[in-house]
Amino acid sequence: MNWTLPNGSVFAGNQTAKTLLSSRLDAGAFPHAVLIEGPAGSGRRTLARQLAAAAVCRSTGEKPCGVCPACHKAFSGNHPDITVIGSGGEARSFHIDVVRELREEAYVLPNEAPARVFILCDVQNMTEQAQNSLLKVLEEPPAHVRFLLTCEQRSQLLETVRSRVFTVPLGGVSAEEAVAVLRRQLPNTSEEELSRAAALWGGIIGQALNGLSDGSYRDILELLPSIASAITAPAELTLLTATAPLEKQKDRVTAVLSGLKLIFRDALVCRFGHSTFLGTSPETAKVLSRSLTRQQLLTLIAVIEELQTARLFNMNHTLFLTILCARLRRAAGR
Ligand SMILES: [Zn+2]
Repeated sequence: MNWTLPNGSVFAGNQTAKTLLSSRLDAGAFPHAVLIEGPAGSGRRTLARQLAAAAVCRSTGEKPCGVCPACHKAFSGNHPDITVIGSGGEARSFHIDVVRELREEAYVLPNEAPARVFILCDVQNMTEQAQNSLLKVLEEPPAHVRFLLTCEQRSQLLETVRSRVFTVPLGGVSAEEAVAVLRRQLPNTSEEELSRAAALWGGIIGQALNGLSDGSYRDILELLPSIASAITAPAELTLLTATAPLEKQKDRVTAVLSGLKLIFRDALVCRFGHSTFLGTSPETAKVLSRSLTRQQLLTLIAVIEELQTARLFNMNHTLFLTILCARLRRAAGR
């Protein structure tokens, strides 16, 4: 399997996923259905496109070769045997009629490639009926068909669907790998900003790239010190007010949690007399190091880690923010 993308860069990080897929493809035993699982911005679609190109590539060497006519068509989105079906992004927006149509198409032989590939994006948005309908073709797929599904969390799918797919998890990449990709895309951004953005978004390149491009990175940098300081404020309302902007910015919470954790880590390090700051607000970290005990800082870090995990289970957003404030205040002994 060739991991070089059409733009010349290599698909970053995710070594486990790459090894899993390469060994299957090289052995000629590529699964009929692959589920690519990971947060938005982790490269799910990029990987799906790469696998689709590999399935139609005509090279006898490493696939996708990137230069044969089939690869050209695949990467330009014009291959007649690759169908991409998106869901529109909303929960329960992926309906059964789309899956029924796809099932009919799946039994038609490929036009020119050895395989017919269906990329199904964001299958977590499939209704239960749509998933059950998909299951029928996953149970006995025609020999020439490959399904590439993307989703956030496999737990959002029916157990019966999960048992029929080969799951490949994608996650954040290392700071160096993330910065290398970001630098390529945003050559005019300073190294410091690239590293900070990579850290805030936990190595999820697509999210860091969006954050730097759409201005949310700057907003989060401004928001972090006010939230961190409000944790120790006399009135509880201060923290509720500080987190209020997040009420309408659900997609920023991941970065805010990582940013807070870095500030608490810096404050802890500061208490031990060191000054190697990893976070974006060294001044706030210094203030917190004086107003909180070591134990309180350790508890704050633990609370953030717990909440990062809890968020994976799609908790109601308003409830989540309320719990966030309450838990942070309690951890800080306020
Ligand atoms: Zn090729």
